[in-house]
Amino acid sequence: MRKLIIVVSGPSGSGKTTLINGLFRDKFCSQKLVRSVSATTRPQRTGEKEGIHYFFLSEKEFLRLRRVKKILEWTKYLGYYYGTPKEFVEEQFARGKGVILCLDFRGAIRIRNLYPKETVAIFVTPGSLDSLPERMEKRCSKTAPEEIKKRIRLAQRELKNAHEYNYCVVNEDLKKAVHDFKKIIKNEIRKRLKQ
Ligand code: 5GP
Repeated sequence: MRKLIIVVSGPSGSGKTTLINGLFRDKFCSQKLVRSVSATTRPQRTGEKEGIHYFFLSEKEFLRLRRVKKILEWTKYLGYYYGTPKEFVEEQFARGKGVILCLDFRGAIRIRNLYPKETVAIFVTPGSLDSLPERMEKRCSKTAPEEIKKRIRLAQRELKNAHEYNYCVVNEDLKKAVHDFKKIIKNEIRKRLKQ
């Protein structure tokens, strides 16, 4: 069975979600790919939906799933757990679909180690780090300024890992970034999944 896993990483506020949403507006991509829904213990933000953006779990439930090996990879980010449900990913492979995952660096490396031949890793970077505070404040209107600062510090660290990825998409001009992102992914689908 041919498999395709696309891992997308990039600092908070780099626009990963917007790019992925743009991808799923494309008929070809939305037929071939499914977006993985992670489990997390972080509180739900306004507008986020259970089972669509994340599965929001208690820490106890998350740790239980991890213990029984139902979490493929996981990370702790700013005090909260995030993880990829194993069953979900395997079901998509069985249906012949590619899976797109939005993970931090640690998760991207773990997935690549698990599926070295099937993984395509894409790093999304903002044009400049100066735009991040404004983007983050817009997105996380109820997020404490302290957490926003921590996310910015983490973003600066994450940028240093960009060279580990197969592709890097610079999101300075959104239209161009969506175009570049789609082009990379369409090529990989054509190369790796049966038509
Ligand atoms: P946010 O709280 O902004 O939704 O996500 C915080 C960070 O966790 C982002 O870098 C996001 O890509 C990462 N993340 C989300 N889900 C997962 C997951 O299942 N595994 C890993 N390793 N990282 C995740």
